[in-house]
Amino acid sequence: MDKVKAKKHLGQHFLKDENIADKIVRALLEKSTDEKVLEIGPGMGVLTKYLLEDETKKVAVSEIDRESIVYLKKHYPSLEIVEGDFLKYNWEAWSDAPFAVIGNFPYNISSQLFFNIISLKHKIPVVVGMIQKEVAERIASPEGSKKYGILSVFLQAYYTVEYLFTVHEDVFDPPPRVKSAVIRLIRNNVESLPCDEKLFVRVVKAGFNNRRKTLRNALKPLDLSPELSTDAVLSKRAEQLSVDQFIDLTLRIQNTM
Ligand code: SAH
Repeated sequence: MDKVKAKKHLGQHFLKDENIADKIVRALLEKSTDEKVLEIGPGMGVLTKYLLEDETKKVAVSEIDRESIVYLKKHYPSLEIVEGDFLKYNWEAWSDAPFAVIGNFPYNISSQLFFNIISLKHKIPVVVGMIQKEVAERIASPEGSKKYGILSVFLQAYYTVEYLFTVHEDVFDPPPRVKSAVIRLIRNNVESLPCDEKLFVRVVKAGFNNRRKTLRNALKPLDLSPELSTDAVLSKRAEQLSVDQFIDLTLRIQNTM
């Protein structure tokens, strides 16, 4: 018996369907020219196995679960395993070279994981990840939709987001309670935003924290200049603004501060 018993608190849902595993890995390999690939949460290596078939790639994995690590060491002795919590590790120092990211991500930390990816965006050109369908839809959603939110704006500012396909819960052991989906992020050519990025973050967060209010009300905590208060864009709600409109608004706020 050498299978890992799934642990709920680590978001462990092992993918059983080899075709889907292969398809996820291909979705990365067809777009990534990076030599290095980092897989987050390999578990028993269902994706890792397909990644390792490409001998031109240097594959490393980030895994927190002891039992999975023991399993991986036994089956893939030469695999680089970065043991511990992905969210706490210094990935900046880990690699000077850019690296692609892949995984059937632990759903309980998927939002934080994407925020970490954003902070490493200069190093991460491509991401293919399986997450909860609902989160995938949010991330991929354009403005004007109820699903559009903070993470959609931040990710879409730096990445082109594609919703690739939906995955049924039955192909996991144990099946999660929700449907899953695979998304792909490809870095756009925006090096840095043409506005103050810290202020952009504050504007987007404040806007969506009160997403049913107009921006005029939602942005009250930012103490906008009276000059701006008649601006038509402030009569809109955060979910109506595209990334570019958020950048524009940030610039205008910046210029009246
Ligand atoms: N890729 C495997 C397992 C997916 S389940 C498969 O598709 O079958 C999610 C995996 O993420 C588990 O192996 C779990 O142990 C791991 N994990 C959970 N939290 C983590 C964290 N903070 N850092 C790194 N790995 C984590």
